[in-house]
Amino acid sequence: MRLLEYQAKQIFRNYGIPIPKGEVAESIEEVEKIAEKLNGKVVLKAQVLVGGRGKAGGVRKATSVNEAKKVATELFGSNIKGHIVKKLLVEEMLEIKSEFYVGLTIDRSSKSIVTILSTMGGMDVEEVAAKYPQKIARQKIDPRWGLWDYNLRNLLKNSSSPKELWNDLSDILRKLYNIMISYEAELVEINPLALTPQGLVAADARLNIDDNALFRNKELAKMRELTEESEIEKEAIKFGLNYVQLKGNVGIIANGAGMAMATMDLIKLMGGEPANFLDVGGGASKEIVEKSIEIIIKSGVKSIFINIFGGITRCDEVAKGVVDALNKQKVGIPIIVRLSGTNEEEGKNILKQLKNIIIVNEMEEGAKIAVDLAR
Ligand code: GDP
Ligand code: MN
Repeated sequence: MRLLEYQAKQIFRNYGIPIPKGEVAESIEEVEKIAEKLNGKVVLKAQVLVGGRGKAGGVRKATSVNEAKKVATELFGSNIKGHIVKKLLVEEMLEIKSEFYVGLTIDRSSKSIVTILSTMGGMDVEEVAAKYPQKIARQKIDPRWGLWDYNLRNLLKNSSSPKELWNDLSDILRKLYNIMISYEAELVEINPLALTPQGLVAADARLNIDDNALFRNKELAKMRELTEESEIEKEAIKFGLNYVQLKGNVGIIANGAGMAMATMDLIKLMGGEPANFLDVGGGASKEIVEKSIEIIIKSGVKSIFINIFGGITRCDEVAKGVVDALNKQKVGIPIIVRLSGTNEEEGKNILKQLKNIIIVNEMEEGAKIAVDLAR
């Protein structure tokens, strides 16, 4: 889960990282109040889950309360890289002398945490890495031993950052490391970390949490409610489904992430576009299958391909879920079902009596029919 900037900044502040004064607003009136408190000189930042908001017009300056209101009117409801702006972070305008990039992420190949520091902050870090690789310093941290002072000294020595900032940079990196460990984050990042007359300030904040660790943290689960996953995704998450909404029109239900990916590939191969990724997991109950169908139909698909390889998942249980879904609501689209494995025959027998259901034996065949019927 990726947090919105203002949510990440709240956490950064709790860990002692300096952030600009400011508050989040959802209306022009709120923008006005906050801008007044900050004497009108503010930056308005669209709270959407994409990078590069600056270049896309999602980070705007204002020098008076009236101008802030005007800019807010333009930003609210506008579209920043496909995301509609509902919240604005209104912050004091910083006097930025220079910008750094600092970040921590996981390096899977060395099974370590990697700290990254660059003096070319403000730019897209991937772009810096491609164009000026020597401007990026990296240091691996073995999570078993934690972060040691010498790790930070190595990092700072390899960066071209000014010595007089090393103490403050170390302090911020240490705090980011603590956040990374206590929130089980995949990424913590400040870009830019701004050097101002008051010292270093996190002008932007990014925090991505490992979804599998969310259950350990109620505070974050609450924040998730506020992030901008689609309503359908929120509902799917509530039922514990591994669901990702995509842009196509062929709905997919499979058991196991690999199976779901393979099914998506097949849909593509047959010239179609998957509408979603949905893994119902091992041993899915009929309730889960019924809910999955209900959720996928809501997303407006033209056909659904259910691809089950029964192991712990029983094909008859899946079939019962399909029956329940059809009994509950009128389903106007074809459902193609491939059942293979545990209780396959029982499952097929249950489905045989139903209209709108096409039973296939091979997944290629199922994918092809699902794509053809979606046209
Ligand atoms: P991003 O483009 O989505 O990463 O959004 P950022 O928060 O990084 O904003 C983009 C750019 O706007 C930054 O690189 C800064 O140069 C500038 N910026 C962001 N916040 C402030 C601020 O508070 N004051 C000033 N003066 N500039 C800012
Ligand atoms: Mn940024």
